[in-house]
Amino acid sequence: MTAPDMTKPDITAADRGLMVVTPGDVRLQKRAPVVPADGELLVEPDLVGLCGTDLEIIDGLIDPAYIRYPLALGHEWTGLVVGDSPLAGHRVAVEGIIGCGHCARCSAGQTNLCETYDEIGSPGTELRPARSPSRLAWRTGLIPRSRPRTRC
Ligand SMILES: [Zn+2]
Ligand SMILES: [Zn+2]
Repeated sequence: MTAPDMTKPDITAADRGLMVVTPGDVRLQKRAPVVPADGELLVEPDLVGLCGTDLEIIDGLIDPAYIRYPLALGHEWTGLVVGDSPLAGHRVAVEGIIGCGHCARCSAGQTNLCETYDEIGSPGTELRPARSPSRLAWRTGLIPRSRPRTRC
């Protein structure tokens, strides 16, 4: 597979993502658009945190049982809801962990401790709207909408 030529004018910033292809190989890559399923929101990431886990992903230090390359960096992020939704235009913070919703920990509201959790992934630096289960997106008024966007 050949990497896309990012200098072509038909590839916009919204098409690209900062992807770790394999450990040590980080590239801007063309990304396909996503379509939300029932019960999901489309959220355009605009504030993204990179943490030590992202560095471990780049360096290939995460147990392979928990990671599949290629993947985007930035699993801690907020964004604006876009698309056909009553929440469109609202800023949300998105939980990264998808609890099973049935175990004792989830029933106690401790979804971060679920023993069979899934993860939403790392859409923060994909620079395109990302799918999020509605139940994991929390409206926040903590960050003014007038704050300058900080994209790479
Ligand atoms: Zn982190
Ligand atoms: Zn659970």
